[in-house]
Amino acid sequence: MACDFIELANKGVQGLQPYQPGKPVEELERELGISNIVKLASNENPLGPSPKALAAIEKVLPELTRYPDGAGFRLRSAIAEQLGVAANQVTLGNGSNDVLELIARAYLTGHSASLYSQHAFAVYPIVTQAIGAQHIVVPAKNWGHDLEAMAAAITEKTRVIFIANPNNPTGTWLTETEVRAFLDQVPERIIVVLDEAYTEYVSEAEFPNGITLLNDYPNLVVTRTFSKAYGLAGLRVGYSVSNPQVADILNRIRQPFNVNMMAQEAAIAALADTDYLRKGVELNQQGMAYLESEFKRLGLSYIPSVGNFVCVDVGRPAGPVDQALLHEGVIVRPVGAYQMPNHLRISIGTMAENQRFIEALEKVLG
Ligand SMILES: *Cc1c(COP(=O)(O)O)cnc(C)c1O
Repeated sequence: MACDFIELANKGVQGLQPYQPGKPVEELERELGISNIVKLASNENPLGPSPKALAAIEKVLPELTRYPDGAGFRLRSAIAEQLGVAANQVTLGNGSNDVLELIARAYLTGHSASLYSQHAFAVYPIVTQAIGAQHIVVPAKNWGHDLEAMAAAITEKTRVIFIANPNNPTGTWLTETEVRAFLDQVPERIIVVLDEAYTEYVSEAEFPNGITLLNDYPNLVVTRTFSKAYGLAGLRVGYSVSNPQVADILNRIRQPFNVNMMAQEAAIAALADTDYLRKGVELNQQGMAYLESEFKRLGLSYIPSVGNFVCVDVGRPAGPVDQALLHEGVIVRPVGAYQMPNHLRISIGTMAENQRFIEALEKVLG
């Protein structure tokens, strides 16, 4: 081989670290030869998919020789109706990560920069660097976004700002007053992405609904997903809501069939299954309360979270603790790559799964 194909790649791409997904259950079973594994690593819905979503998938199976609806007409209409926006404001993605990438590709270049917080969601650096743009990373405050510092960090080159509310992995959140005060300071030429992947779980009165901010801020793009509270992570479907011009631009670079037929049908069904959503949110509240009280009992500090996950400080490097938990058959997520070397992120599971985790943690920490 005469060429170094790493060297030939775009500079930004060469510098990328691949996203580390949670270890699949089957892989750990093979590696350790154990069964009955509990996975609390990827903020998935522990209920399993909505039966209505499963029925919708089954119904569409005979149609799979056809291409899906490239415009996603029915799903976009259903989303628009539920949110009270126009369908031409909705852009569908192969997961909301796909939409985050579309935004980066549409609005960033090698000569501009994105801006986001320390400890923010790992996909923001990936989509930025993949197109060779620069990033401005603003130190966090109490593990959360420091919006005042972020506003002060805006430069001539800033084109896109990513804000996760609540943030993954920290679970921290911003009030409507804070978000509005920030948006008031951002020049309109800068796209602000409000990533609301966990919004369905949040019940705090001061928590904003990004959709209601769209009328006041034409540069705002709100992203949401069916992967978390709607329980369809494996199908890959998410979306953004924005002003129609931004949606038009994203639509121009979107792969025409980026959301498959099963995903479109399941998402329409899941959107209407309010019972499923409510059950998941209640289970999450119970699980969160349980984990918080157990962390207190064990004398462990944790970052208060409004998502379906929580970061706990294990008081020592978390890598070995994670490894020991794997040997107990419990998969959680070390967050060293987020500059949080002593924390583990635990996704809230069923009560039985949460208890399994606490038993394993107590054993591992001695
Ligand atoms: C999980 C997550 C997403 C969405 O992922 P998709 O499965 O691609 O929709 C987006 N943002 C944050 C902060 C997340 O944690």
